[in-house]
Amino acid sequence: MNRTVRRIFDVAADTVWPPVCHGCGRGCKLDVDELCNQCTASVSSAMQIEFCPGCGRSVAPYELTADGCGECRETGRLFTQVFRIAAYQDGFADLFRRFKYGGYENLELFFARTLARQILKSEHYEHIDALIPVPTCWQHRLRRHGQGVGRGFHPAEGIAKLVSKHTSIPCAPLLDRIRGGKSQVGLSGAARLVNVRGKFALAKGCQVAGGRVCIVDDIMTTGATVRECARVLRRGGVENVYVAVVARAGEDASVLNVV
Ligand SMILES: [Zn+2]
Ligand SMILES: [Zn+2]
Repeated sequence: MNRTVRRIFDVAADTVWPPVCHGCGRGCKLDVDELCNQCTASVSSAMQIEFCPGCGRSVAPYELTADGCGECRETGRLFTQVFRIAAYQDGFADLFRRFKYGGYENLELFFARTLARQILKSEHYEHIDALIPVPTCWQHRLRRHGQGVGRGFHPAEGIAKLVSKHTSIPCAPLLDRIRGGKSQVGLSGAARLVNVRGKFALAKGCQVAGGRVCIVDDIMTTGATVRECARVLRRGGVENVYVAVVARAGEDASVLNVV
């Protein structure tokens, strides 16, 4: 396509599909995986908060040592490394809820690119063999706007596939959801651990012994779901478990009732 034709095509496309920010819907000219200044500011401020690389929890700077946060020192580090975009709070929590429940699914482009950058710049990048999305049973797949059950929205899978494109780490569905049951939303931390127990299994025929894998999910709240996934993978012989999530929430009651 020559330059003039390309320009006419771009103008026509902008008229039919006016460019908008995928985070808030405001009209603005951006690349598909960029957000407007206001949305970018919400993300940047939530990214400033220090977190423990062993469990992903937000921590005060003095709480961290080479062995992680106080909880990791006490109970043992949960994961080799947690990658997270930001803490689930303030403007970033609003953005996340819009993504998950408000029809702003294109935010996955921005989330995946940001998460991929964190993995690429990490010393662990070369050591990760596969990205494994947390599997969701079909009843829990969220409806896309205007579409019925069965054409659901699976944020973890969508993000894992896009992160795979950016990092060239293969996305491998090595875990299966073997039973449904209650959603984790509305449950306390202890109840979440019980509720998720036994929901996952290694996919039939896959060999993971000695592997170094990264579990991908959209949000880590109490950590019960990724811990259960990690338990199954370690039982299969996985050596190192990494975790990559868009948001890491605390465990206060208001959060437990939302995500
Ligand atoms: Zn915006
Ligand atoms: Zn920790």
